[in-house]
Amino acid sequence: MKDIIVQKFGGTSVADTDKIKNVARAVIREKDLGNNVVVVVSAMGHTTDVLTKLAKEISPNPSLREMDMLLSTGEGVSIALLAMALQAQGCDAISMNAMQVGIITENIHSNARIIEIKTDKINEHLNSGKVVVIAGFQGVTEDSEITTLGRGGSDTSAVALAGALNAKRCDIYTDVDGVYTTDPRIVPCATKLEQISYEEMLELARVGANVLHPRAVETAKQHQTALRVRSSFKTDDLGTLILGVEKMELHRPVTGVACDLSQMRIVVCDVQDNPGTAAMLFDGLASENISVDMIIQSYARKALNTNDIAFTISKGDWIKTKAILEKLRDTLQYSNIYEDCSIAKISIVGAGMIDRPGIAAKMFRTLANLDINIKMISTSEIKISCLVEQSRANDAVEALHKIFGLDSKEIAVVNGDLPNV
Ligand code: ADP
Ligand code: ASP
Ligand code: MG
Repeated sequence: MKDIIVQKFGGTSVADTDKIKNVARAVIREKDLGNNVVVVVSAMGHTTDVLTKLAKEISPNPSLREMDMLLSTGEGVSIALLAMALQAQGCDAISMNAMQVGIITENIHSNARIIEIKTDKINEHLNSGKVVVIAGFQGVTEDSEITTLGRGGSDTSAVALAGALNAKRCDIYTDVDGVYTTDPRIVPCATKLEQISYEEMLELARVGANVLHPRAVETAKQHQTALRVRSSFKTDDLGTLILGVEKMELHRPVTGVACDLSQMRIVVCDVQDNPGTAAMLFDGLASENISVDMIIQSYARKALNTNDIAFTISKGDWIKTKAILEKLRDTLQYSNIYEDCSIAKISIVGAGMIDRPGIAAKMFRTLANLDINIKMISTSEIKISCLVEQSRANDAVEALHKIFGLDSKEIAVVNGDLPNV
């Protein structure tokens, strides 16, 4: 039995027809090594952004069902073109969308999770010698409703397929040649990591290192899928291997620095300091499928029997959140609501920070030396995040990257041209 390799190519890698032809060469090369190949592709270039903009021109708050119908078309274009490119180069190939495969998701629009992937048809095609090209990012509910997995979700489609098919490896081809100690577009002397643990990669992805969709890392960890991030533009380069923590040596307390500009802060002022207040507020948000990240409840002012609750959400959830807060005004009896969109969440991540005191102090001191005010702090075992003014985000990332010894002497490779492979 041949091994199955899942290859995923992101938007930049399939941005035009020349790039698609080159992707086809990379696919054929993997097949010529004796593997069965399943390819997952994203929409071409900035298609998803363009489609989103079109929708916003029609309506400020379009229905999520119709958004999924619209956005899922982007990946539909890429699969057909790549299958044609493969066929034109003499490789038997077939494209399939999520409905044809049976990528079954929960019944939630715009951010659905995969429940099950049917593998029989894919295996049939692989066994007949075909490369199977599958649309990333999209799914289908049991009731045949089209769903999407959230922005950047093609990574998750690829890793979930690799898990379901028991693939030998899942390669995420993108416009950088691996996972770096921070976004190389912010810090050009970021260091490429040869390998990183699932745990650290998961934290980095969650706090804004959008080189991988967090749920893709979660899924790879669950199935212990060997995962590589590598360049579409230098296909000989093996990139970064993501694997289990037990094989890692922890030389440094901090492995990476990340920045997330997609969040906003909300402060609900003077809510009653009673049991059930926080539950009511966050139940309301959860009922609309709104994820909350950082939460701070202030010290209760005993005389008034009130306190403030501050939390962060994705900027895209603000309209829904506002409506919920409005609905809860009488129950929560808050005096005011402040919203702050100009924030950045800066995080340091590293399994090596466990049991090493002083890491948080060093982070706070570094920000203080730059006169950067910290608006909120949150920590986990291997991560410390600070909310700062958005205009100081790059300064903060650069300084933290340097102080924790992550700078490299080389300049990172970002977004080259696809060579003829
Ligand atoms: P694709 O379209 O291939 O899915 P993405 O734009 O989603 O590509 O992800 C690749 C981008 O992730 C890079 O261009 C880079 O700017 C960004 N990035 C953020 N953090 C990191 C990091 N730690 N290492 C590498 N790239 C990162
Ligand atoms: N096309 C989708 C997006 O731009 C999914 C992806 O590229 O992973 O978010
Ligand atoms: Mg991506």
